[in-house]
Amino acid sequence: MNSEELFAAAKTLLPGGVSSPVRAIQPYPFYVQSAKSAVLETIDGRSLVDCCLGYGPLILGHAHPAITAAIAAQMENGWLYGVPTELEIDLARRITGDHPSVDMLRFVSTGTEATMAAIRLARGFSGKTDIVKVDGGFHGAHDAMLIAAGSGATTYGIPDSAGVLPDFAAHTRRVSYNDPEDLEALLSKNDNIAAFIIEPVMGNIGPVLPDDGYLAAVREITTAHDVLLIFDEVITGYRIGIGGAQVKFGIKPDLTTLGKIVGGGLPIGVFGGKREIMEMVSPQGPVYNAGTFNANPATMAAGIAVSKYLHLHEDMYADLEEKTRVVAESLPSSAPGTFVRLGSMFKYFFRSAAPRNYTEAKECDTAAFCMFWEKAISEGVFLPPSQFETNFLSTAHGEAEMAKLVQVYSQC
Ligand SMILES: *Cc1c(COP(=O)(O)O)cnc(C)c1O
Repeated sequence: MNSEELFAAAKTLLPGGVSSPVRAIQPYPFYVQSAKSAVLETIDGRSLVDCCLGYGPLILGHAHPAITAAIAAQMENGWLYGVPTELEIDLARRITGDHPSVDMLRFVSTGTEATMAAIRLARGFSGKTDIVKVDGGFHGAHDAMLIAAGSGATTYGIPDSAGVLPDFAAHTRRVSYNDPEDLEALLSKNDNIAAFIIEPVMGNIGPVLPDDGYLAAVREITTAHDVLLIFDEVITGYRIGIGGAQVKFGIKPDLTTLGKIVGGGLPIGVFGGKREIMEMVSPQGPVYNAGTFNANPATMAAGIAVSKYLHLHEDMYADLEEKTRVVAESLPSSAPGTFVRLGSMFKYFFRSAAPRNYTEAKECDTAAFCMFWEKAISEGVFLPPSQFETNFLSTAHGEAEMAKLVQVYSQC
């Protein structure tokens, strides 16, 4: 069967024909046969340069030999024990060593679980009820975080999804990114706010970058109001460098969530932070968290392998940055939009200036983006199929792949 036929079959079994909404590319998505380095091979016999990379995790590209070997070796020994392993101590030591703000952590299976657990922990630790998030910030698909719709006004949350109870959504407040006054105003009016959760670099509408001093202001304001600061580094962790945004920008959040890269491409989530807060997590403390697949050996082995690789080859971050510079410079001077990049994260926004927040991001010409996306895929480049998803590069993007990218972006 070809991709079109497979999608028709899938639609009878899976809602919308997919297992996660962004995959429902119209009129039908391509189905992948295999993937190696920076290239996806489709079931229809096409080769596509992959700038989606599983939405971020695959910083070394597909089927990297170091990760493949680590997973294969673990498979020989079994992949689920239901008791602790030395692997989780090894990976925890690596992650805490890379993040000065993280003294202790808990492994879960997805980024969604990580932010859900971090929010419960912030509430359990502080005894306060409300959470503040950034408009357009994405923290996974659980009830407290599926709130961002509507205007940028700082107001009670309105659910983005049917089935999220308005009573529950009312405990999620919103502020605009890059607007410290908005946060200050909200926190000074409310004394029942447990935490402010933020993607330090907004990865799910962009990237949208922090203004100079914004993250430092966020740290100052949250400290002054005794509100915990949660950095959701599920995308930025190990993506913009070892230690993520918190090391790059020199900020110490109270809690951090990780996922994506940290599991080497297998399912993972991590929440961690200050010892006195993490000691509240069960069984040490009263805030419950548990999971059959938490710290599963296959993911731990893949995570250790990627960590080893990144530490041994830390100069790859500069190489990746150079690659996105090459793409940026391929744009013609007549290009109507704006190219934004940070390390190996990049996006071409169909807007005359780089968006600074959700409201501005939504002003992009999404019809123009769709035409550009179609053109890119027809020339053999797979970009995430949305104006609001970050593009990624990997160490596996070589000369041939870069030449294709340059060709596509030179036609902007
Ligand atoms: C992807 C993502 C999540 C959710 O992670 P899953 O593993 O998909 O559940 C949470 N936060 C951010 C910033 C993400 O990009």
